[in-house]
Amino acid sequence: MKAAIVSSENKGKVEIKDVTLPPLAPGQALVDIEYCGVCHTDLHVAKGDFGEVPGRILGHEGIGIVKEIAPDVTSLKVGDRVSIAWFFQGCGTCEYCLTGRETFCRNVKNAGFTVDGAMAEQCIVEADYAVKVPEGLDPAQASSITCAGVTCYKAIKVSDVKPGQWIAIYGCGGLGNLAIQYAKNVFNAKVIAIDINDDKLQLAKEIGADLVCNPLTDGDAGEWIQDKVGGAHAAVVTAVSKVAFNQAVHSVRATAKVVAVGLPPETMDLEIVKTVLDGIQIIGSLVGTRKDLEEAFQFGAEGKVVPIVQTRCLHEVNDVFEEMEQGKIQGRMVIDMHKYHHH
Ligand SMILES: [Zn+2]
Ligand SMILES: [Zn+2]
Repeated sequence: MKAAIVSSENKGKVEIKDVTLPPLAPGQALVDIEYCGVCHTDLHVAKGDFGEVPGRILGHEGIGIVKEIAPDVTSLKVGDRVSIAWFFQGCGTCEYCLTGRETFCRNVKNAGFTVDGAMAEQCIVEADYAVKVPEGLDPAQASSITCAGVTCYKAIKVSDVKPGQWIAIYGCGGLGNLAIQYAKNVFNAKVIAIDINDDKLQLAKEIGADLVCNPLTDGDAGEWIQDKVGGAHAAVVTAVSKVAFNQAVHSVRATAKVVAVGLPPETMDLEIVKTVLDGIQIIGSLVGTRKDLEEAFQFGAEGKVVPIVQTRCLHEVNDVFEEMEQGKIQGRMVIDMHKYHHH
C-alpha cells in the first residue's frame, strides 16, 4: 500500500512509497483510510524538529473504516468509522492514564511520529484507543476535529469559561476558527477574536465572534479588551506569537485562566505582580483525551461546529507543506484517499 513517509534525503519533505504493514498484533485493527488532515505538527515531524524519524508514515488526523480486527478485539467491529489521532496510545497504568490526563502519559505513542500514521492507504490502530466517528459527521470534517477541533474544545474546557462570559481567542487560523465555534456554540460564551490578519477576522465574524480586534490597527489587544468589556473571563492563545501570549495575560479579569495552545519557540514575559495580585492562572493544554474527542465529534455531528476543509491528493503533501509555510491556508487541507485511487 502507498504511504507518505518522512524522507531521509530531503529534510522537511515526504516521499510516496510502497509500504507493507506488519500482521495485526492482539488488540489491533486495520483501517482503510478515507481522509487525513495535514497539520503543522506533520511539518515539524518531517523536519525532524522533535527528533529525526526517516521512513515514518506521517499523519495524525486520520479517518477511515475498520477493515479487519485481531481475534481478541471487542471495542471495534469491521465497518466502524474511526479516527487516528496524535494521542495514539497511553501506557494505561501510570498516574496520568489512570486519572483522566492520558495525553500527558510519559510513555505516550503519537501517530505519525513514534508510530506509523494515517497518511496512507491503510493504518494499524490500537482498537481501544481509536475513537469512533458518530453518524452524521462528514468524515473530511471529522479529520479536522481529530486534531484542531479537540485541541480547541479541550482548551476551552480547561479555561473554565461559563455561559455568557467573555472569552478572548488569540489567533483565528486553523485552530482559532474552531475555537470560536466551540466557545460560541457549545460553551455559549461571548467571543472576542484577535488576529493581525483582517481576512481571518472577517471569517471570525462570519462564524460568530461577537467582537474582533486587530492589534495592528486597534492597538494592544489587552488594553482594547479591558476598555471594551472590562476584561475577558478567560483567554485561549492559539497564535504562534509571544506578543499574543503577553497581550492575553493583560486582557483578562482577576482570577482568569489563560490557556496556552500555540507553540512559539520563545518565552513569555510574565509580570509576577500582575500574576499574584490578580490571581491569574497560565495553563498549557495538549490535544484531548479519547473522551474529549468523542464529545468534540458529537458537537460536530450536531452541526454546532463546522470545520472548513479542502481536499487534496496524497501526491500533494509537499505542496501543502509549502503553502503552510507561506501562510496561505484558510481552514484545513485534508488528503482525500479516494482522489489518490482515481489516479
Ligand atoms: Zn494535527
Ligand atoms: Zn500512561
